[in-house]
Amino acid sequence: MWRNWAGSQTCQPAVLADPATRADVAQAVVRAAAAGHVVRVAGAGHSFTDAVVTDGTLLSLRHCNRVLDVDHTTRRIRVEAGITLRELNQVMAENGLAFPNLGDIDAQSIAGATATGTHGTGARLRNLSAALHSIELVTADGTTIEVNAEQEPDIWRAARVGIGALGVVTAVTIQAVPAFTLEAVDRLMAVEEMLGNLDELLAVNDHFQLFTFGHSPLAMTSARNRTDLEPRPLSRAREWVEDELLQNHALRTVCEIGRFAPRANGPLQRLGSRLAGSSHRIDRSDRIFTTPLRVRFVEMEYAIPRRHTAEAVRAVRELARRPEFEVSFPIEVRWVAPDDAYLSPAGGRETCYIALHQYHKLDWKPYFRAAEAIFDSFGGRPHWGKQHFQTAQTLRPRYPEWDSFAAVRRRLDPEGRFANAHVRRVLGEV
Ligand SMILES: Cc1cc2nc3c(=O)[nH]c(=O)nc-3n(C[C@H](O)[C@H](O)[C@H](O)COP(=O)(O)OP(=O)(O)OC[C@H]3O[C@@H](n4cnc5c(N)ncnc54)[C@H](O)[C@@H]3O)c2cc1C
Repeated sequence: MWRNWAGSQTCQPAVLADPATRADVAQAVVRAAAAGHVVRVAGAGHSFTDAVVTDGTLLSLRHCNRVLDVDHTTRRIRVEAGITLRELNQVMAENGLAFPNLGDIDAQSIAGATATGTHGTGARLRNLSAALHSIELVTADGTTIEVNAEQEPDIWRAARVGIGALGVVTAVTIQAVPAFTLEAVDRLMAVEEMLGNLDELLAVNDHFQLFTFGHSPLAMTSARNRTDLEPRPLSRAREWVEDELLQNHALRTVCEIGRFAPRANGPLQRLGSRLAGSSHRIDRSDRIFTTPLRVRFVEMEYAIPRRHTAEAVRAVRELARRPEFEVSFPIEVRWVAPDDAYLSPAGGRETCYIALHQYHKLDWKPYFRAAEAIFDSFGGRPHWGKQHFQTAQTLRPRYPEWDSFAAVRRRLDPEGRFANAHVRRVLGEV
């Protein structure tokens, strides 16, 4: 039995294999084809959708997590695809390297994170897949190919954000940057003041993001900037208070109270926002970017054109106040620079990402359906790892190079070996 992090997706594949080597991966694909199985790969199970779910062959690459090469001259690091971001960040730090940007957590595998267009925040910075320099892919007939911008540029633009529909990624080379230190300043700001100064806030900060509750006029903003100051890691006790007590325990308590007494959501959110206060940290970049998130939730996140940020944030905040949705979680807003992967939700446009969360014990569908109507009105593209209700038909007009991706898919996987129900729904039949 396979289960995702949120506990919202499960499956019982006919074959569950965790190959020890990349050659074993290729053999597993050939064996699955002989048995007529669909092949899916499970990363760290941190997607909310049924992207991984199959009753055919499910491969886990957790044992294919080796570091293959670190080139200090080019700052490129080659790793097997099952390595987690946490493991990778550690190896990079030991070699004086880092990812230019990261999302909120580091539990994902590198292949799983890039396959869905996982991103952090920073109006001048692209998603994680843009940090790839090349990809090794096992295709439907068990052949291994290596693609990069020069070699097979079409496959390269398709495979960076490929949702596991083109084959099994077995290794990647990452173009890292020199290790850097970040100074993070979290502070409360009135939402309207923040929206009024948005262009400046995005211009002066390397990374800027915010969390806001529907019921509070305030937002907790986080500005993170590169610094030459010495890192000052928090003591274990202080870290526990900030990350576990104030973030995880307090949020779980608010969610449980809200579940049994939804009317408490408004007062709790207003109080929580006022008490949130400010914080200041200086640390290694990956330690600032990522924090442990232990309260289970289900999430929807949409990429909309950046110019619609203010209208969309106002509309979603209004929605989150509606009593019937019983929302206890904040709305998260981030910004990402355009890139050129065919199916990147930030592809070709300056992007604002808006994420909604619902406590895992509550029904997320009504809230997310209503929110999707708002995102649709702004030409939104859903995060490929998070809940949405779109189909290939509704998505195709939102991606100018949709047909280029489809052509690569037809070429690499003409029989739909990697197409489970999710892939067929969101990308269509081959
Ligand atoms: C608590 C939490 C916080 C999160 N924070 C962020 C965030 O800050 N920013 C953000 O953008 N997203 C975030 N996400 C979403 C998450 O980054 C993505 O869903 C990501 O895809 C999960 O990676 P994974 O390794 O768990 O992959 P999985 O969820 O296991 O798989 C994702 C997809 O990749 C495919 N895949 C995995 N490995 C391979 C492979 N080797 N070859 C081919 N296909 C493969 C799978 O088949 C599937 O289609 C968060 C999710 C959670 C649960």
